[in-house]
Amino acid sequence: MSVIKNDYIAVNPYSRPGLALPVVNKIIMHYTANNGGTAKNHRNYFNNLRDRYASAHIFVDDKEALCIVPLNEVAYQANDVQRYINGSAYRGVPALLSNANFKAVGVEMCLDKKGNITAATFNRSVDVAVELCKKFKLSATDIVRHYDVTGKNCPAPWVNNPSEFTRFKNAVTAKLKARAPLHGLHWRWARRTLYIRAGANWNSKVTFTIPNYYAAQINYDVEKNGFYQIIFQGKKGWYKPSSTLYWFEKNPTVKYEVTGEVVNFRASYKWGSKVVQTKKKGDTALVLRKMKNGWLQVVLTGGDIGYIPDSTKYVRKVA
Ligand SMILES: [Zn+2]
Repeated sequence: MSVIKNDYIAVNPYSRPGLALPVVNKIIMHYTANNGGTAKNHRNYFNNLRDRYASAHIFVDDKEALCIVPLNEVAYQANDVQRYINGSAYRGVPALLSNANFKAVGVEMCLDKKGNITAATFNRSVDVAVELCKKFKLSATDIVRHYDVTGKNCPAPWVNNPSEFTRFKNAVTAKLKARAPLHGLHWRWARRTLYIRAGANWNSKVTFTIPNYYAAQINYDVEKNGFYQIIFQGKKGWYKPSSTLYWFEKNPTVKYEVTGEVVNFRASYKWGSKVVQTKKKGDTALVLRKMKNGWLQVVLTGGDIGYIPDSTKYVRKVA
């Protein structure tokens, strides 16, 4: 669900020219420099603006994020001239040349009565930036301050204290990396013998076990106390799959068949170690990995682990 609410101002020459925004290369962060003014206050102000050219796409306060100019239209946000370098207006972000208003979306952070960007406004602005990054296929390195573009002292709290701007971008990166929550049934493979509970807590009795390397389904839609419903061979129980220590996300094994008449799988990857299981020609086994000396680590019946040299004299991959 979007954190951004659309509340567009009317098309007008001063704050919503109605021009198409041809490309979005950056997200420009601003502050309103107007203590106590809410997102709604600014929306109404820009809707009635008649004496200068100014606007931004989104206004964020500690209650909401209002999009007042559609994200596919130009807002007059960052083409101001603060100083000249060799006779040309200072422009600090090459990707926004020659006019940033045609190459970026702008986000204004509102201030509380004391002139601070509150934690709620900061966090909501992070969510807004995350959404914009996803929409326009950008990353946190594409977020710039108005200051970076033209040299304007905006957002002043992040010009005075650049570590706040860094903290903002880091928060956006962390959220972009976070995985979406899972839903529905997902196959997982047990990394070890798992004791599945009758109820959704560790004191509940074990109702069945899943041998290591066996596949079960986790139902991410049925959750209680952090425990999820587990379905294994028609049986249902509860497990807290809190750690990737206990499950493989993908089937870690490759199916092999036995080619020798009688093949001994050993407890270690060397001749002379004890025999764990014996299989006959045509039997199958699941290979987990190849060891450094060329032996295969094999998942045997019941989840036992055995080893066999990787040679078609003994086993071969099932095509
Ligand atoms: Zn600004």
